[in-house]
Amino acid sequence: MKSLAKRLQVRRGRTRLADWKTDSTPECKGKDQANQQLAENLARIDELQYRLHAEARQSLLLVLQGMDTSGKDGLIRKVLTVFNPQGCKVWSFKVPTLEEAAHDFLWRIHRAAPATGEVAVFNRSHYEDVLVVRVHELVAPSVWKPRYHAINEFERQLHQRGTRVLKFFLHISREEQRERLLARLDDPLKRWKFSDADLVERRSWRSYQRAYEEALARCSPAHARWHVIPADRKWYRDFAVSQIVADTLEQMNPRIPKARLAVRNLRSRLAR
Ligand code: AMP
Ligand code: MG
Repeated sequence: MKSLAKRLQVRRGRTRLADWKTDSTPECKGKDQANQQLAENLARIDELQYRLHAEARQSLLLVLQGMDTSGKDGLIRKVLTVFNPQGCKVWSFKVPTLEEAAHDFLWRIHRAAPATGEVAVFNRSHYEDVLVVRVHELVAPSVWKPRYHAINEFERQLHQRGTRVLKFFLHISREEQRERLLARLDDPLKRWKFSDADLVERRSWRSYQRAYEEALARCSPAHARWHVIPADRKWYRDFAVSQIVADTLEQMNPRIPKARLAVRNLRSRLAR
């Protein structure tokens, strides 16, 4: 089902996020079907990661972005744990530390890029440096504007050395965010996740959408397109991302290397 990725991919030019539905379910007939497909996708991913690791020539980078409560953590917990931890690392990028801030914005990112045969998941990423930084005017426009170009160059380099860059924007509505923040307040088990900062960020919803629109439009070359995942329904989000990850790994077609072994001879040595 290669068409799912195509349908959700950002093409060149301006992208109006308002034109992308947050509650649609393309290529999916409902929750039951989504969950069944999810299970199949996880089995495919499991096998393909094994081959990726054995081949040790390519790597996969998954970039997750989205507004607060859009489901980045949930997606990692429910879908991306399928990856064998011996070959997958998850990186959560927060406000830069003093050391990170003393370097160029890609420094901490490049160090986290996956080695050959490995998978890396970015929970937030280098895109924060054209998102939060822009919305809150943490640096001057003359500093963040050239970053789109720097990001494209960086991702092109990764691609050229065999890293597939897959980017997912988890797209929720402002109303859905309200529901999820309220749920965090209502549920004692979720209350720890509630942060005053989320309410401050929520006030900048429009500015964030605009910043996202520009980042998605300017950083979607053919080899590293953004995918806009309708994420109001968690089961759809999980299905869609698992499907695109499995399809991409299939396209990468990692092969288990042929071992040149004198099997008969080795067997006879093991007989003793
Ligand atoms: P969370 O993902 O909820 O743990 O929050 C992490 C916070 O770190 C978010 O508010 C991000 O906007 C913030 N953050 C991540 N990267 C940067 C960055 N490069 N500059 C400033 N803030 C950042
Ligand atoms: Mg948060």
